[in-house]
Amino acid sequence: MTPPKIRTDPGTTSTEDLLARRRALAETIGDPQRVLAGSLVEQHRRCGKPSCACTGGDGHGPYAYLSPRQVERGRLRYVPARLVAVVRHYLDRSGEVEAALAEISAINVELLARRELT
Ligand SMILES: [Zn+2]
Repeated sequence: MTPPKIRTDPGTTSTEDLLARRRALAETIGDPQRVLAGSLVEQHRRCGKPSCACTGGDGHGPYAYLSPRQVERGRLRYVPARLVAVVRHYLDRSGEVEAALAEISAINVELLARRELT
């Protein structure tokens, strides 16, 4: 994970600007229900039938799988084709929400240093 950083220079940015930035970041978070932490991977699979052409090739697919970050890490979950766009959207949102929270936290560290954390 990338370390949180304040986009506006904390040394020269006014407290008012930091508070405005914090407010703007909070607004980008939107609906926190629609997040998924992990990544989408594509894999080919062999069906196992000896007569199938896939035995000599790449296999069937590609099929989409979710690699969840926290829950039972490493175990891939099949993603039906009709849900790929939804999963991708949730993954993107998750990244945006995490980045926003990390920057809000960094702003709050700066506000604490100024004794202006409220
Ligand atoms: Zn096959």
